[in-house]
Amino acid sequence: MDVSHILDGLNDAQRNAVTAPVDRHGLILAGAGSGKTRVLVHRIAYLVEVENISPYRILAVTFTNKAASEMRQRAEQLLERIGAGWWMGTFHGIAHRILRQHASAANLPEGFQILDSEDQLRTIRRLLKILELDESRWPPRQIQSYINSKKDEGLRPHALGQGSDPFQRKMIDIYHHYEDHCQRAGVIDFAEILLRAHELWLNQPDILAEYQQRFSHILVDEFQDTNRIQYAWLRVLAGHQAKLFVVGDDDQSIYGWRGARIENIQQFPRDYSESLTVRLEQNYRSTGNILRAANAIIQNNVERLGKELWTSAGEGVPLDLYAAFNEVDEARFVVSRIQQKVAEGHQRQEFAVLYRSNAQSRVLEEALLQAGVPYRVYGGMRFFERAEIKDALAYLRLIKNRDDDGALERVINTPTRGIGEKTLNTIRQQARAQQYSLWQAIAAVLETNQLTTRAAGALSAFMHLINQMDEEARSLTLGASVALVLESSTLFDFYKHQRGEKAQSKLENLEELVAAAEQFGTEISEEELPLDPLTEFLSHAALEAGEAQSDDWEDAVQLMTLHSAKGLEFPFVFLCGLEEGLFPHAMSAEDPLRLAEERRLCYVGITRAMQQLTLSHAESRRIYGKEVFSRPSRFIRELPTECIQEIRAQAKMSRPVYRSSQEAIVVDKQQEYSLGQGVFHQKFGEGVILNYEGEGARARIQVQFKSAGSKWLIAEYANLQAI
Ligand code: ATP
Ligand code: MG
Repeated sequence: MDVSHILDGLNDAQRNAVTAPVDRHGLILAGAGSGKTRVLVHRIAYLVEVENISPYRILAVTFTNKAASEMRQRAEQLLERIGAGWWMGTFHGIAHRILRQHASAANLPEGFQILDSEDQLRTIRRLLKILELDESRWPPRQIQSYINSKKDEGLRPHALGQGSDPFQRKMIDIYHHYEDHCQRAGVIDFAEILLRAHELWLNQPDILAEYQQRFSHILVDEFQDTNRIQYAWLRVLAGHQAKLFVVGDDDQSIYGWRGARIENIQQFPRDYSESLTVRLEQNYRSTGNILRAANAIIQNNVERLGKELWTSAGEGVPLDLYAAFNEVDEARFVVSRIQQKVAEGHQRQEFAVLYRSNAQSRVLEEALLQAGVPYRVYGGMRFFERAEIKDALAYLRLIKNRDDDGALERVINTPTRGIGEKTLNTIRQQARAQQYSLWQAIAAVLETNQLTTRAAGALSAFMHLINQMDEEARSLTLGASVALVLESSTLFDFYKHQRGEKAQSKLENLEELVAAAEQFGTEISEEELPLDPLTEFLSHAALEAGEAQSDDWEDAVQLMTLHSAKGLEFPFVFLCGLEEGLFPHAMSAEDPLRLAEERRLCYVGITRAMQQLTLSHAESRRIYGKEVFSRPSRFIRELPTECIQEIRAQAKMSRPVYRSSQEAIVVDKQQEYSLGQGVFHQKFGEGVILNYEGEGARARIQVQFKSAGSKWLIAEYANLQAI
């Protein structure tokens, strides 16, 4: 058989990994861009083509939906056929699929719904109200991260004991209530998906055996970001039969704050002592300069497994560093750079603009909009997280599951239908007293005539509305059901009658939701739909949360946070907002472990770039409504100066110098320059001093060179000679 297409285009180390014996576990430990994902995909093709393993017996797991769909495409391309039957997806996606198929064995109702992070927070807020706890003493976000971190560790409230102090005791108590509440409402949060799936293995040996027999090969990309429960889930599933093939890079572990454990990489060879470890050292993605910068940054971290990356590609162009006045200037710079390159014939999708925090995207988006440059934001305010979309989804959820209290609270009076806070409180009290869901409580309250005629009328109209939607939707396609819900809930009308761009865009989003539902119905095959399309669609909305936004392949610039850029690559990368307090994030400055994670994040960002990397920082930035002045990030200082080229704003260069030319710039006692003075620089030759900032050893001097143009230099190092 000709398998050259599988083995060509691999170096020796990669080929060794791809062709490792089928009966061995494998660990590929290698730096960014060394071909880990490529090896994983080729391994899948090798197993199928050469070792005749049925695709049905292969499970491949990765971290984002975007990465999973790329993996699928690449594997199908190599095999030149559709890989029907194999399972490729994210941990959450796969665990969710298994839970759907065995809902009752997992002690979940058939139509259980997923709580995304925002839903979860709302649920916690509601719970605090019920428990009469003050949000300022018991911050909902802290509770949320407490609960999630316990679940990531595999710990249920009863496993936490009594708690050592009053605070712990209260947290455990809230966790208890939260768990009861979710169970009653038939909803599960993200961390719960993994924990439930793991418990399913432990509690249902028959079901576990079924999957153990099925999967002979389990492959995992981005293994460095697995948390305790994910690794445990994999280990139990693999059992004694399946072979694990995991690839990762300890330097790219960036989800410590979500429980990821780099230690899993070190643990793996201990747990599987007969596994084969392969290291890859050649980087195929980036230029020499980019790689040098990446290596220099990550060297500042301690306790690394240590890898040497090299490239046979040339040095490439230097990294550009732009010091912007503020965030608007930064955005303008980025956009004009992109426009320049696009005018030279590059496609927009070759450009990625990366940032530390979601809040940074708005200004960048505005600059792109103004310049008429199409762009796409990954992550951030994702489509399925927008308020109007969540309203619509809440109606749909309620159709599927009347006990979903979160959904009910969201829409019972949206759009307004005369159900006030007072009425709601009566219902909430009833629900609490009787351990009912809100829906059941409404029925009970109506029956016992506890309300005014008006309130009762509004409530029964609401119940009737939901029941009727449910009935009508049954005979409709998915797209049509969504449209029906938008009409009968009057959400459509509600936004149609509001003026302004905001309402208009909300309306467009709702229309987009109908389109998404229509498309979803046609793209998913019968085989992949164990349940009804609406439930599948709702799960899809919660899980994908717009990661891929739309399948509309318009050529667009890509905007995303550093976290969502993991595993991806782009010819041109902009890394914005390199400022102390923003990146590294303020929360990490004091904590060495967190700082190390920020540095890995920086390493991830730098290594996304193939040809050119542009870094920028702003002297002042309006963020969360406040203007902040910050120093350039320490990460800039950690870069080797020889691969950096500083760029100064045009405006600043042509700005007249108002300083008197008599003024002396004192660098130290021996050296003194004055404005307008002629100087000579070793590398740049002759020039004239135009401007300066600061004083003493840290003074920076702007020189207009005859041939090299204008440059800002650190006086102490510039070694300028007066001429
Ligand atoms: P990351 O750590 O960022 O996830 P990775 O190790 O998974 O990176 P890949 O994405 O698999 O790296 O590969 C990086 C780039 O190098 C890809 O464009 C890939 O096609 C290319 N590449 C990998 N190996 C080779 C090779 N042997 N010959 C040519 N190109 C290669
Ligand atoms: Mg990869």
